[in-house]
This record gives sequence, C-alpha cells and structure tokens, in this order.
Amino acid sequence: MDSNIKVLKFGGSSLADAEQFRKVKNIVMADERRIYVIPSAPGKRFSGDTKVTDMLYECYNVAESGGDIDEIFSKVCDRYNSIIEGLGIDLDLSLEYQHIKWAILHHAGRDYAASRGEYLNGIILAKFLDYDFIDPSTYIKFFDNGTFDSEITNTLLSTELKKHKNGVIPGFYGSMPNGTIRTFSRGGSDITGSIVARAALADIYENWTDVSGFLSADPRIVDNPKGISFITYRELRELSYMGAGVLHEDAIFPVRFAGIPINIRNTNAPEDTGTMIVPCTDVFDSETVITGIAGKKGFSVITIEKAMMNSEKGFGRKVLEAIEKEGLSFEHLPSGIDTMCVVLHTEEINTCRDRLKNRICASVEPDSISIEDGLALIAVVGRSMVKAKGTAVRVFKAVADSEINIRMIDQGSSELNIIIGVDEKDFEKATNAIYHEFVK
Ligand code: ASP
Repeated sequence: MDSNIKVLKFGGSSLADAEQFRKVKNIVMADERRIYVIPSAPGKRFSGDTKVTDMLYECYNVAESGGDIDEIFSKVCDRYNSIIEGLGIDLDLSLEYQHIKWAILHHAGRDYAASRGEYLNGIILAKFLDYDFIDPSTYIKFFDNGTFDSEITNTLLSTELKKHKNGVIPGFYGSMPNGTIRTFSRGGSDITGSIVARAALADIYENWTDVSGFLSADPRIVDNPKGISFITYRELRELSYMGAGVLHEDAIFPVRFAGIPINIRNTNAPEDTGTMIVPCTDVFDSETVITGIAGKKGFSVITIEKAMMNSEKGFGRKVLEAIEKEGLSFEHLPSGIDTMCVVLHTEEINTCRDRLKNRICASVEPDSISIEDGLALIAVVGRSMVKAKGTAVRVFKAVADSEINIRMIDQGSSELNIIIGVDEKDFEKATNAIYHEFVK
C-alpha cells in the first residue's frame, strides 16, 4: 500500500546559495507528498569555491592547534547570512553562531564542528519551507564504538516522524549514547536520507543532486556516456564499489532493507527523470546488455605457486589467514590448479609487503611467490547479462582487439558482473573498448 510519503535529500550544490534554495522550494512544493526533506551543508557555488563542511573542519583544526578562528568562522557565518538575506526571510542566527563558535573553541569535537554545516542549513530550509525542524541528534544513534545503530534509530525516528506533518531533518549526523555528536563519513547526508525514508516507510527516496542520474561510464574516460534509467541495488553496489560516484555507498542499505526505490534527480533540471534504483526490475536492456562499467586503479596481485596445491588441504585458508593477520582484506581471488592469486589494494600492501610475503612463505611453503603492482580493475555490470549469451566473449574480444593484455578475469557467481584486470596504463583504453562494444 502506498504511504503517499516522499523523502527528499538535497546535496550541497543544490543548497549552495539563495537561488538554489528557491529551486529546492519549487521542487518540494510541486508535490504535496514531498514531506520530509534532508539538506546537506552549502556546497560549492562555483569551481574553486569552498564547501562549508570543509570550512568547519578548518575551524576545528585551527581551534585545536590553539589558533584564532575568527576569520574563518566569520566566513562560515557570511555564507549563511547571504542565503538568509537572499531569501528575504526573517531569521537571525547570531545566537546560534555564538554558541557554535564557543563550543568549537571548547573542544566539542571534530564531528560536532562539521555537523553544524547541516544543522544551520536545516534551520534556514525549515524556515523557508515553513516545515518543522527535526534535529537528528535525538533520533539518529550510534553505538559506543562509533558504528551506526540502525534498529534503535528506526524505532526512535519513526515514532518522532509520526508527530510531524512535515519536517526538515539535517543530514550527516546523529549522536553517541553519551550525547556527543557523531557524523557519518563524508557525503553521509545520503545515508540520513535513506534512514529517514525507511523510518517514514516512504514510497520513494528522491536524492536531488547536480547530475541527472548515473551514467553508464565515467565521463572523464568515455565521451558522452549514456545515462542509466533503471538500475538494481545490487548492480549499483557493484558499480559504486568500483568507483562510480554520485551516491554514498552505505546509503543503499536502509532503503534496500525496506524495499524503497531511490530516484537520483537533478535540482538544476527537475524535468529529467534521472536514475531509478530499484530492488529488482523486469526491465531488461536487451539492446545494450550491460548497465554500466566502472573501474579503479591501484591494485596489486600476490601470485603463489606450488605444485599439487589443489590437493593440499587448508592451503587457501592458510594464505588468507596470513593476509588477515596483517589486518588486510582482499578484493578478488582468481585461482588456477597450482596457482592462487589474491588481489588487494596496493596502498594497503605497502604497509607490510615483506612481512606479508614472509608470513605466507612460512605458512604454506610455496614454490614461488610474487607481488605485482600496477593493476587496474574494470567491472562490467548488468542484470541483463544472465539472459544474453556470449557477453564474456564480447568483453574479452573488445579488449584483445585493442591489443590490451588481460591480466586477470573474475566472473561473479551471480552473473551480474565480469571483472577484468589490466595494466593501469591500459585502463582508459580498455574501458572505452568495452563501452563501445556494447553501446553503439
Ligand atoms: N556536508 C557533508 C560533506 O561535505 C555531508 C554531505 O554533504 O553529505 O561531506
């Protein structure tokens, strides 16, 4: 049954100045189901501008090193005052500013300082929309160890939301059991939006940003890539893990749990339908087969060889145990009969390269072991791949025709993705070759 509730999150660029606030109001007012709104802090107004969150981190750093925050803090206040003035609303935040400055100087913490960006923007937006202001510090809760407490949050927040006809809930932060402010990682207002959508049992979570949804490839690599109109949560997870931006990785979980679709929309082009992220869909793209391509550089492969490895019980476990003991996690595990390869982030291996090698040698006594850097991974993702024969062949052929050597292949058991590893220098060329093989 429809709840007739829409939850909207607006990113920093959508709320960077008074003009953007007006666009937001038009969007919210265009549909009476748009009752809960989650703002980010004011973002960049032009390239080279500074986000308010970054200014607040700077305030914290300067304060903690005993410096004078007057100048930088007054720049933060100026940003908000110019929005208030530009909107012509009757609001005076000077007492708030005084309190926040005092708290930053009295060690209220890094997260507290950063969170005030969303807090102040929330007050202004609530006033401008004439919506209730709901402070998430009372309802969005973290455990003592700093991880998010989803269940208590859902209980507290759903009870509170029922008391409000509408509301503005600032993104990015909540609080610890002792009441101190805690933020999510950067870009975390996306997570707040998702949490609110779940608690409100919304029909949809609209995530308003400055692009009209996801693109099927990185526009810095592929010229003018096609937009994605439908994508499943699982596909998106594969793509965003591999570096496709726009939505915070963790924002998927609360709404996915509740089966609520996310619609990525563009505040500057509200007529565009954007990308719809859904739990599952019958919409299969038989024409292009793939939904998107994403990739990352910076991986290393540990190759371990040993004759008759396949008959040695516990071989794989011992190798993985050695990796675990170094506090590392692995990304992929492509293996042969007498070889086992483990793909990891180079950055992580760099902290313990020799120790890790020695540990593996002591544990499984291989015939040889090597660590090679400079690997880029490319994920070709698409739910339609299950239905289309020969997708893998097309991927490999496209790469081979470009005279690029594939160093690693890994097809997920879900048939949702094919991951290949190539030399970092071939990354862009390989991505283009695959893209153009599928998207004509
Ligand atoms: N303002 C925070 C950031 O810049 C959170 C967000 O925008 O989602 O990371």
